[in-house]
Amino acid sequence: MSLNRHIAVIGGGLTGLSSAFHLSRRFPDIFITLFEKQHRLGGWVQSECVDVSPSQQMVLEAGPRTIRPNAKSILELVHLLGLKDSLITVPRTAAAARNRFLCIPEHEQIQSLPASLSSLVVSPFRSILLPAILREPFRQANRAHGSQDESFDSFMTRRFGKDLARTLGSALVHGIYAADSRKLSVRAAFPLLWEAEERGWGSVILGLLRSSQEEDLADYEMGDIPRNMNGVSVFSFRNGMSTLTDALKNYLVQQPNVKILSDTPVTSLDVSETKIQINQGMLKPTHVVSTIPLLALKSLLPSLPHLTANPSSSVTLINLVFSVPPNTFHPPGFGYLIPRPQDDYSLSMPGILGVIFDSCSLSSQDTPTTNNSFTKITVMLGGPHPLTEDHTRIPVVISHLEKHLGAKLPDPVLTRTHHHDKCIPTLTLGHVDRISELKEVLRRGVWRGRLEIIGAGVGGVSVADCVDAGKRVGSLW
Ligand SMILES: Cc1cc2nc3c(=O)[nH]c(=O)nc-3n(C[C@H](O)[C@H](O)[C@H](O)COP(=O)(O)OP(=O)(O)OC[C@H]3O[C@@H](n4cnc5c(N)ncnc54)[C@H](O)[C@@H]3O)c2cc1C
Repeated sequence: MSLNRHIAVIGGGLTGLSSAFHLSRRFPDIFITLFEKQHRLGGWVQSECVDVSPSQQMVLEAGPRTIRPNAKSILELVHLLGLKDSLITVPRTAAAARNRFLCIPEHEQIQSLPASLSSLVVSPFRSILLPAILREPFRQANRAHGSQDESFDSFMTRRFGKDLARTLGSALVHGIYAADSRKLSVRAAFPLLWEAEERGWGSVILGLLRSSQEEDLADYEMGDIPRNMNGVSVFSFRNGMSTLTDALKNYLVQQPNVKILSDTPVTSLDVSETKIQINQGMLKPTHVVSTIPLLALKSLLPSLPHLTANPSSSVTLINLVFSVPPNTFHPPGFGYLIPRPQDDYSLSMPGILGVIFDSCSLSSQDTPTTNNSFTKITVMLGGPHPLTEDHTRIPVVISHLEKHLGAKLPDPVLTRTHHHDKCIPTLTLGHVDRISELKEVLRRGVWRGRLEIIGAGVGGVSVADCVDAGKRVGSLW
């Protein structure tokens, strides 16, 4: 790339910040300007440190909170930004890793999911899980000839039966996408499962067993960080996920070739054969990375195809802190998810997607870490559930939790309610093909490869997917 080039990054969430980070390292002599419409950087990543008593501090997350240890793009940032000492890990042997629960709407109370083959035999879900898992490898290949995609629910029903698809499948999708599994594309949202079916001659289980254990680690600069991940179930940061976005920001503001413009929305993006203009000529970059939601990009570039194809889920997230020691009114564990109701989503449902037992899963975020006398949990509501204001009132939510947990809850000493509008895109059927077409238009049309569109609405929604997209952006520039 020649010296007179200038890259504009639109959006200062995790994708935009990691794009600017990797681009500034790859092109140290090229100017990079990052536009963020809000004052604060980080997008959905938002951690708050609160004093719950004169001697006790807690981290409350309003967005993402845990990362899987195979997230190489994040481990790379941990290494490059020197965040090793901020890491907190949950071992696979911990209760938070082993104990996960489901709350089937018809049963009302939470039930434990099996953590091993031996516990599967005595699990309350054995009548659903055992036959589904034992039969799947012997079930004939049944993907429709030439099928390019299907819903996650249809995929799971085809391979594992409708009971498992509704209970486990829909609950998983509630927990990751806050979406209806009947609307989500399996190929876009769970590509490993879609590919496993191909590799396993029609069987997902055989395909997963045949998957190559060899990982392409050479592509990532991770130092000795992977060693910290041996035997780890999930990880986070002592002061919350904002540690990552704050460190990215602190790195970027020190780079002479990077400028961050907060409080500066991109309101126009014009392109001709010879020039690109942002905000009526405020900046004339040679290349642009858009990391904003596709629906927001539509208002800047109405002629691009497929930007409005996917809806996004809105989620209400409630942090609750109680003045009782952890695991008093809930069992030790990660938390529980609630599957789709047997009929359909309706206003009469509690609207809860899942509950995370934060004090158990991320207890080392709270100080002092020992003799903790407070419990924090997070309740997620909404997504495909229609919500009224009443659904998110604290006493109403607590009354539902009491039924799920079969225990009386004390009054919370601290609550935070966040209404996140359109925060997680639902990658609907055909998403992968639509994105290929969009990329083709950007390559061949007037943009001639000078604009790349990435972010949660394009690739996967996990923080690792977002950072990975930022690492790979502009690889042909
Ligand atoms: C409640 C919640 C919980 C989650 N939990 C997890 C989890 O535990 N683990 C996990 O892996 N993932 C999780 N995710 C997913 C993950 O956090 C997100 O997918 C990811 O943070 C999205 O980052 P992004 O940068 O692509 O988008 P965003 O965070 O949406 O950033 C886009 C940025 O663009 C800015 N912007 C928009 N329009 C303009 C404009 N015109 N000009 C300039 N700036 C603009 C916005 O203000 C925003 O800052 C969660 C998401 C949510 C919402």
